Amino acid sequence: MRAVLVTGGAGFIGSHFVKRLLGCEDISQVTVLDALTYAGHIENLGEAFLDPKLDFVEGNILDSAVVDRLVERHSHVVHFAAESHVDRSFYEAGAFLSTNVLGTRTLLNAASRLGVDKFVHVSTDEVYGPLLSGAADESAPLRPSVPYAASKAASDLVALSYHQTYGVPVCVTRSSNNYGPCQHPEKIIPLFVTRLLKGEQVTLHGSGQHMRNWLHVEDNCTGIELVLRAGTPGQIYNIGGGTDFTTKELTGHLLRLCGVDWDSVVHVPDRRCNDIRYAMTWDKITSLGYRPERDFEEGLTETVDWYRRNPDRWAPLMRNSHAARPTVALTPAGGEAHDH
Ligand code: NAD
Repeated sequence: MRAVLVTGGAGFIGSHFVKRLLGCEDISQVTVLDALTYAGHIENLGEAFLDPKLDFVEGNILDSAVVDRLVERHSHVVHFAAESHVDRSFYEAGAFLSTNVLGTRTLLNAASRLGVDKFVHVSTDEVYGPLLSGAADESAPLRPSVPYAASKAASDLVALSYHQTYGVPVCVTRSSNNYGPCQHPEKIIPLFVTRLLKGEQVTLHGSGQHMRNWLHVEDNCTGIELVLRAGTPGQIYNIGGGTDFTTKELTGHLLRLCGVDWDSVVHVPDRRCNDIRYAMTWDKITSLGYRPERDFEEGLTETVDWYRRNPDRWAPLMRNSHAARPTVALTPAGGEAHDH
């Protein structure tokens, strides 16, 4: 591999991925294209920001002039940039369609005209929608139920169509919920942890039986790197193997790690758009050598410690974020929302 363009590299997963790439001897150049929205922070890159192999470009994936200029200079593209927070998609769906679908198209247009060796489109298990039983493999129908998931499903289909129509060497990855350091405090784990560390209460919807698979961000990055190096163009790869927990079980772990009890939890009625369960298989990516390594208890403890040690990183974000607002009136079916 030579030069890799990483969109959204100042976000949560993208910044972990960039640090990993910078450590690879066969990669001579990593360029981050990031619009630095409320979700993107140069601080997420830490010392990697100063690495001579890294170029940082502040720009929008919808800007075809910037995108063309960058794609032309890179052999590989890994596309993370997106509006990623489910709750925001309830009241800003247009931004999700614009960035996630049209932004992806802008990148694909450049890749098809200028040529790349591989284009990895990073997506989510939420495109499969809720499953009461069983697990979705890569050929399962897409049944997204919230605007975020619908915009990701649409972008997956557009990306795959560019492989079929124009021969762009696209691979799609779909992972379960990620956790780890540097995640924006609007997402459930950092939202709960930061509130609990401040001595505030957290809200649990309904009986807290919503089931999610929690994958350490480094395990997702391992899968994405394998797909970048060895994935077959035109193929989708689910990346899972994290730990399945109900929201109530997850809350119990977070209470324990933050040293508080169930008095810190407020029970609120469930909301209609809270998908009951996501589940997928991930056998296919094992053929590329994928195996998740991170132990959940250890990874979660380390994550909570990161938030405990870095209040300067998250406290200012909470003041400006949806996570800090009472959102009952903003969500379609009532109740404060939170998802990955
Ligand atoms: P994030 O919100 O932390 O980061 C998104 C990044 O994209 C930010 O740095 C932001 O500034 C940038 N960005 C947003 N709009 C942009 C635009 N128009 N142009 C350029 N940059 C823009 O998201 P994340 O959690 O790191 O997720 C990264 C990708 O992984 C997303 O595509 C998301 O759908 C997918 N994903 C996330 C999870 C998860 O649990 N977080 C799980 C599965 C899939």
